[in-house]
This record gives sequence, structure tokens and C-alpha cells, in this order.
Amino acid sequence: MNPHQTLAILGGRPAISRPMTPAPAMDEHDVQAVTSVIRDGVLSGYIGAPGEAFLGGPRVRAFERQCASHFGVRHAVAVNSWTSGLVCAVGAIGIEPGDEVITTPWTMAATATAILHWAGIPVFADIDRQTYNIDPRSVERLITPRTKAVIAVDIFGQSADMRALRALCDRHGLKLLSDCAQAPGALHHGAPAGTLADIGGFSFNYHKHVHCGEGGVIVTDDDRMARRLQLIRNHAEAVVSSDDPVELSNLLGHNFRLGEMEAAVASVQLPRLAGRVAMRQAAAAALDAGLADLPGLSTPAVLPGNTHAYYIYALQVDTVRLGVSRARLLEALRAEGVPGLVGSYQNLHLLPLFRHRIAYGTGGFPWKGAPGGDSSVTYGPGLCPVAEDLHARSFLGLAMGQFAHAPQDVAEIVQAFRKVWAQLDQLRCAVPEAA
Ligand SMILES: *Cc1c(COP(=O)(O)O)cnc(C)c1O
Repeated sequence: MNPHQTLAILGGRPAISRPMTPAPAMDEHDVQAVTSVIRDGVLSGYIGAPGEAFLGGPRVRAFERQCASHFGVRHAVAVNSWTSGLVCAVGAIGIEPGDEVITTPWTMAATATAILHWAGIPVFADIDRQTYNIDPRSVERLITPRTKAVIAVDIFGQSADMRALRALCDRHGLKLLSDCAQAPGALHHGAPAGTLADIGGFSFNYHKHVHCGEGGVIVTDDDRMARRLQLIRNHAEAVVSSDDPVELSNLLGHNFRLGEMEAAVASVQLPRLAGRVAMRQAAAAALDAGLADLPGLSTPAVLPGNTHAYYIYALQVDTVRLGVSRARLLEALRAEGVPGLVGSYQNLHLLPLFRHRIAYGTGGFPWKGAPGGDSSVTYGPGLCPVAEDLHARSFLGLAMGQFAHAPQDVAEIVQAFRKVWAQLDQLRCAVPEAA
């Protein structure tokens, strides 16, 4: 391909002229797995009352054993989404209304709303400019006597600095949770992502590396936590006979149970995880090689000790150097047919819910009215300068789930980038625009 062909955004032929779609994720094994559940006729094996069925049906329990062995943990607790898993995890560690939990603004909203779910108060630490993960130094500055836990997120597919966070949490007596929805199969100093916190977990939502529709799994080595997770998942209040307020806390009427069909599909999917991660790593290596020499474009940094699962291939553009705005670059790349482009990421601390501190009704609870006094935690611009800067200016992501990872797909994406970069002057003159 001649990189000097007219840019598609200016009326030329797109570099990628076919629609790019994800590789098929399901095959006959998934069909057979679901079919066998339907033939058995019991689509959920749970009962919300004491007895064996309290812990779910045969496929759910088999899937949990499979996950525990796959991730090398004592306990795996299957749930109907990782959002539910996060709610279980925050509840299990015994969060009280008004307790502060520090997390990152660069994550899916569920990480933070799980804290609010138990009337805890999310506190947002800034992120690391290279990895987009929570910055332990920022966490340390935010610890107060009300802080009870930290939720790290392995955003885009590589682990946060779990050694530093573990040391920090141990020093201050905090629980450490880990949201690894985007990083199943990644390693951190040889250990699987998700296993480096008190409680970790993964999503099996359609958009994740392996999926069963909706679903998730929580992993932990802590026996007591595992029991509490199982209780919160399934109407604990109807089962528990304790009189101890600590043991009774947060055991409140939920149904987060995974169905047998989803568990059956997830069981078939899990063994495919390693292969899918390897495909993404090969695709990322080819993208690195094809894009590294383009000026004003930085390819993802993988920190020593980490392997990356590449949920998103995260680039940064230096728009001042290029003299072209990120929005214009995105338009040009999209016109060339590049799939999965994302031009910014979440800044949860700027969501209206947080800025106005309105969650339960309109009275400001839990920031107001929680035991322990009103909270001084506020949200808004300026709180997380690195996250805000990346969001506003330089971050440019490629959602790796939006295309297949065959060498040909990746080669075409590289060509599209190179074509746009070869003709940046066209973008500069076509529409005069501030960088
Ligand atoms: C997908 C995702 C979730 C939520 O998982 P669901 O299974 O969709 O509920 C939470 N956190 C992160 C970082 C995610 O990417």
C-alpha cells in the first residue's frame, strides 16, 4: 500500500476496506455445554436456604473448582457479574457506612459504586502516567483514620504495583482488593493477576477475554472471606444464625447467583484464556514493532515483572509535537477503518454522582449522615491531574476485543496508522485547528 494515497477522511480509499470483527469466541463445545444443561432441565441449582444447594448447582460448583485450580487459590466464588463480585468483596471485608475506600478514577464505574453500595465513601487516587494504574504514592497521601481498604484495578490488562500497595496496606492495616476484569491471564512477578490481594476477581461479560454472557468469579485464599462472599451472594440473612454483629454485618438479601448455563459455558471458555492472551500479546508485539518509530506516538509500557493481557492497547499522542488534535487524529484513523479506537477514558471523580455527592435519595448520604460524622471528601477537576491530563489530551486506546488478532488484521491496522502519520500535514492544513 502506498502510504501517500489520499487520506480517507479527505475522500481517498480507506487503508482497511473490510469490516474488522472479533474472532468467533464460541464453538460446538459451548453449544454442547448449554445443550446438556437444558436437557437436564435445571438451569439454576441454587436455593436461598440452608443445605447443600445454598452453594449452587453442579456446574457452578465445578466451575468454581476449575477456577480455584486455574488461578491457584483456595477459593473461587462464582457470581452473575463481576459488578456483583465487587459488591460481595466490599461487603465481605466489613465496610461500615462512612468508611473510606481508596480506588482509581480510571476504571469502570462498578469499582467505585461497589463501595457506595455499602455506604462506604470512594476516594480517588491519581494514576501512573505510564500504566494508567493507581499510583501508590497518591494512595498514601489520601489515607486517613477512616480509610479501611484500597481497591486496585489492573486497568487495560497489566497489574497495578501490587507490591507497593500490599506494603502500604499492611503498614496501615488496610484490606487490599483487586479488580482484574481486564487482566485475566496477566502475571505480576510470576503470580496470576487477581491473586495478589485479599480478594480479587474477574468478569465473564461478553466484552472480556473469555465470556459466558454475564458472569464473574471472585478469588481469595481467606477462608472466612470466602464464606462471607458465599453468604452475600445468596440471601445470607435467611441462613445465618449468628448473634455476632461483626459476622452478621452486610449479609443482606442479595441474589448474585450464576446460572448453570453460564457456568457451563464459562467452564468451556476458561481453558481458552491462555491462548487468547497469547494471541493478544503477539498482536501487541506486532503493533509495537509497526508503530514504534512514528513520531509523537508512544506504544504501551509494560513494567518489569508484568505480563500484559491487552484488554486495551493504550497509546499516547503528543499533539503539540504533531500539530494535530487528538480528535482529528481519531477521525482520520477511524476513516481509514481502524477498529476499536477510544479517545479518552473514565474519570470517575468527575461524574455528576460524585461531584454532587448524591447517591441514596437526595440528602447526601453517605457523605452526610453516616456515623462518624460528615465526610470532607469532595470530587471535581484538579483532584487527579495525571488522569485528567491523559483523558483530556494524550490517551488513545485500541480496544483489542474489537478485531481478530491474526497477523493480517494487525498488519492492516499498522498500515492505516502509518498512512495517517505519513500525511499529518494534510490534517494540519485541511482544518486549521489548535493542537
Ligand atoms: C467489565 C468491568 C467490570 C464489571 O464487570 P461486569 O462483569 O461487566 O459486571 C468492573 N471493572 C472493570 C475494570 C471492568 O472492566
